Amino acid sequence: MAEYEAVIGLETHIQLNTHSKIFCSCKADSWEDPANTNICPVCTGLPGVLPVLNERVVEKAILLAEAMHAQVQPISYFDRKNYFYPDLPKGYQISQFDQPIAVGGQIDLPIPETADPDGKGYVRSVRIHKLHIEEDAGKTKNARNQRLVDFNRCGVPLVEMVTEPDLRTADEAAQYLIRLRQLLRWLGISEADMEKGNLRCDGNVSIRLKGSNVLNQKTEIKNVNSIDSLRDAIRKEIDRQIREVEKGNEIHPWTLDWDEDTGELRKMRSKETEADYRYFREPDLLPLRVSSDWKKEILKDFPERPLDRRQRFADQYDLPMYDADILTLERGLADYFEETVTAYKGDPKKVSNWLMNDVLRMINDDHLEPLEMRLTPVFLSEILQLVDSATINITTGKNLLEIVQDTGKAPAQIVDEQELAQVTDDVQIREMCLKIIAANPEEADDFRGGKESLIGWFVGQVMRESRGKADAKMAKDVLFELLKK
Ligand code: ADP
Ligand code: ZN
Ligand code: MG
Repeated sequence: MAEYEAVIGLETHIQLNTHSKIFCSCKADSWEDPANTNICPVCTGLPGVLPVLNERVVEKAILLAEAMHAQVQPISYFDRKNYFYPDLPKGYQISQFDQPIAVGGQIDLPIPETADPDGKGYVRSVRIHKLHIEEDAGKTKNARNQRLVDFNRCGVPLVEMVTEPDLRTADEAAQYLIRLRQLLRWLGISEADMEKGNLRCDGNVSIRLKGSNVLNQKTEIKNVNSIDSLRDAIRKEIDRQIREVEKGNEIHPWTLDWDEDTGELRKMRSKETEADYRYFREPDLLPLRVSSDWKKEILKDFPERPLDRRQRFADQYDLPMYDADILTLERGLADYFEETVTAYKGDPKKVSNWLMNDVLRMINDDHLEPLEMRLTPVFLSEILQLVDSATINITTGKNLLEIVQDTGKAPAQIVDEQELAQVTDDVQIREMCLKIIAANPEEADDFRGGKESLIGWFVGQVMRESRGKADAKMAKDVLFELLKK
């Protein structure tokens, strides 16, 4: 069989987390309220009303454009996209067409080993075609043999971002969404939750012979509502197209609907063309001008991008990429890590280990915001220093994490109050070891009879006797000495 490759381009709709809608003052963040409670004459398109652009929407779109290295256009325009549907009371959607707010851009996606057939991992560069802003439509649903419509979502602000057809596998498409979601949360501009529909993605798929540069007829997959579904749907569609072509059949430009329940793609309709929408300039809105001063103001606190920070963590702190990746999944965690490293002054890898193994579990279990924890970066660094100086042992250090988080007290104070300092006193340790050996004559005999693996068990008993405070290394040496007698 000939060798094929897939060609994939993604169109994402990103719901911005502004307080109010894009062209009116209705609440934007509560479209799941009782139906038709967050609506007004503007977002329901009553005659005689005028839209007023929400500046916050523009700001957030510009943040995203900057993150994607896209060029913000000094002037862009709003257009009417006309179509009839019950969830669109105006009969048109205000969108941007030929002059969108930003064009171009690129994201370099790290594709993990697990998504690389060669098992090595690689980078896929994906060019961005454009970003535009638009309003969302309402929702319809079936109930009690009736078709109901809810306009709450009308006018909720969206950014539509379109890639060039640069992706080559279903896994790459999934990675694009994973990194986009990370970025949106990093910038704080969207909840970016696919299950909730505030990040939506359509996948455009075609196939061609490997090595060829042609763009063949594509299909468009709609209604996927998770990253896994997108991956599954694209895989299935690639397989279907290969089968069709192998049979000598043509690929038709269908729009396919992903059925979440059955995990199947169904032909929804033959595709509309742009002419069907009769786009024309929105006469009720001025051209959107973004002055260089305004842009500067919007971007003045622009953060280091997550993938850049990931690379810098690996380089600057000499961390494995695995660590750098986890530590930069969320901006708050990345900040927490760097603040701890600064306060600690010791080996960053040690900070990373404590964070990834212990602190992250606390954060996840209790849904904590890293920088709002009572276990602050300074307190964590103090615990690490207490362990480094052998004031406390590692076990006590790990226990301290929870105690500091519960009480908000400084680690050194807790060590004082609860007498947690490591017992390194030779006489004290010797006493405890003698006591344990005397209390366990059978085990002592077994040890002497050659079962030296029991040493770990003896150390454990001493640790328990000392409430975890004994210097384990010292206890082990003393136990060996006493048992060998
Ligand atoms: P349409 O005619 O559907 O509007 P566009 O050229 O606007 O197509 O592209 C829409 C999306 O489809 C973009 O993400 C683009 O990268 C992708 N795309 C375009 N051509 C192809 C193709 N031959 N195979 C796969 N994806 C494609
Ligand atoms: Zn409104
Ligand atoms: Mg198009």
